[in-house]
Amino acid sequence: MSTADDKFFHPKIVKRIDFAPELWMIRINLGGEFRFAPGQYATLGVQGEQRPVERPYSIVSSPVESEIEFFFELVPQGALTPLLYKLQVGDELLMRKVPKGRFMLDTKSGRTNHLLVCTVTGVAPFVSYVRTLFKDFKEGKFAGEQKLFLLNGASRSWEFGYHDELQQFAAQAPWLKYVPTVSRAWEDEKWKGETGRADDVLRKYADMWGLNGTNCVAYLCGHPEMIEHGKGILKRHGFSKEALKEEVYWIPGKETVA
Ligand SMILES: Cc1cc2nc3c(=O)[nH]c(=O)nc-3n(C[C@H](O)[C@H](O)[C@H](O)COP(=O)(O)OP(=O)(O)OC[C@H]3O[C@@H](n4cnc5c(N)ncnc54)[C@H](O)[C@@H]3O)c2cc1C
Repeated sequence: MSTADDKFFHPKIVKRIDFAPELWMIRINLGGEFRFAPGQYATLGVQGEQRPVERPYSIVSSPVESEIEFFFELVPQGALTPLLYKLQVGDELLMRKVPKGRFMLDTKSGRTNHLLVCTVTGVAPFVSYVRTLFKDFKEGKFAGEQKLFLLNGASRSWEFGYHDELQQFAAQAPWLKYVPTVSRAWEDEKWKGETGRADDVLRKYADMWGLNGTNCVAYLCGHPEMIEHGKGILKRHGFSKEALKEEVYWIPGKETVA
């Protein structure tokens, strides 16, 4: 039950797509105002026996959409994702009414190139950037003065939940480059694209696209190890602290690295 001073929305799931056995997206209908900027995250929860179990999730959708979208990875031993995984269309969850985070596109720094590097679900905030800019582009409100270069890493190609959508955007938008890369190509024989981890191919693409610390801001999102390696590579390539932004999805420790 929702009350006026309730900190939570109680949205219902209106759509669910399972991209792969442990990767899925949902769309929810809030039935209330929720103002956020592309790149921010929401706090989602499921009611536990005593209190809600809550975790932060980057928002995939653009603020111009009427529903809010999320992209999840199941952590089998985790507290919340096994509960979220059980929820189907029509089921209710909890979402805090206040969006959070500062992982927004920095259009004020004077650096007009944006290198977006992510692993699996870490693509979420970048999809929100691209959907928002694409709408403005189509409506003549954005002429491509900011350029986005998206490097999306996963173990196998079926983990790219937004591959087709991003490819279609990149085919139409001169301001967007999209390179998906697969680190376990031997388990994905049909894959014809780039291979290696996102951090392995990062330097190659930064050079190829002419990106450096004076003309570019880099954004790293997702797996903590990719972010550590990626930051080291970019720092050695001249990216200062101001030109590096990160959204670390979990603290390494108990998990096994894919
Ligand atoms: C700002 C922010 C945005 C986030 N956005 C997303 C998102 O869009 N989609 C998404 O799926 N997750 C996202 N996360 C991660 C999310 O908040 C949870 O940490 C994750 O879903 C696991 O929750 P859990 O309760 O199931 O596991 P927990 O009980 O929190 O964790 C159990 C163990 O697994 C480790 N772990 C957590 N996540 C992973 C993982 N993906 N792979 C391997 N080990 C892991 C933890 O370090 C811990 O040791 C985001 C995190 C942050 C900080």
